[in-house]
Amino acid sequence: MPGNFETRSQEINSLKESVREYVKTSELFGEDEFFRTLHQTPLVEKPAQESSDKKARLDALYGKYAECKNCPLGNTRNKIVFGMGVLNPDVLFVGEGPGFEEDRKGLPFVGRAGELLDKIMASINLSREKSVYIANIVKCHPMKNPDRPDLRGNDRPPEPSEMAACLPILEEQIDILDPKFICTLGSVSTKALLKTEDGISRIRGRLFEYVSLSHKKIQVLPTYHPAALLRNPELKRDVWEDMKLLQNLISQTL
Ligand code: SF4
Repeated sequence: MPGNFETRSQEINSLKESVREYVKTSELFGEDEFFRTLHQTPLVEKPAQESSDKKARLDALYGKYAECKNCPLGNTRNKIVFGMGVLNPDVLFVGEGPGFEEDRKGLPFVGRAGELLDKIMASINLSREKSVYIANIVKCHPMKNPDRPDLRGNDRPPEPSEMAACLPILEEQIDILDPKFICTLGSVSTKALLKTEDGISRIRGRLFEYVSLSHKKIQVLPTYHPAALLRNPELKRDVWEDMKLLQNLISQTL
């Protein structure tokens, strides 16, 4: 019976969609090794695109600020954490500032929060190596007690004056990289980039507009910081919703 066949076919498609959804949720929530392994095969491999002009401009920007002391954080940092990723990113992820591990390695998001960010990105087939760039609002480690850089747990959010001093670097990075989308991680980076006073729980999952130094309009999606997810795993579901939206937006640009 054609009618029955069609209904059956719709049911099977719907079941397949549910399984796909479950696979991705499992990856983000880290519940199931089988689905984790299954999902590690990327659905779409994106060819590497590199622009020597962008690289030259980014290198020059790094050189300009490598010894920066434009705010007090420059006096206590171990290494400047400039950013990392590809030169033509689908998404620029923006955090607030380096922590203990990042300060030692000179790389963004390399501690526990960074591991979770990598999982979150992988859940929608994004990675530092192929499709994103990761940077922070401030490039040097803000510490509660700057006399004890050897202490873990000595991190603090950057002060408004520190963010104001450092933001021009990120603005230039955005202008050079020209990402398809920006995803701000947490309240601090969202407020700094979007010049808003709204808290992250109020505005996450909604799209905003950022205008670059070259007057290009880039859509910004705020979501929770991975460190907040480590403290409160309940927030993972909201981040998963935000990542699905981001994946959908990216797919519309391909
Ligand atoms: S945080 Fe930014 S402005 Fe302050 S010293 Fe470091 S690079 Fe310079």
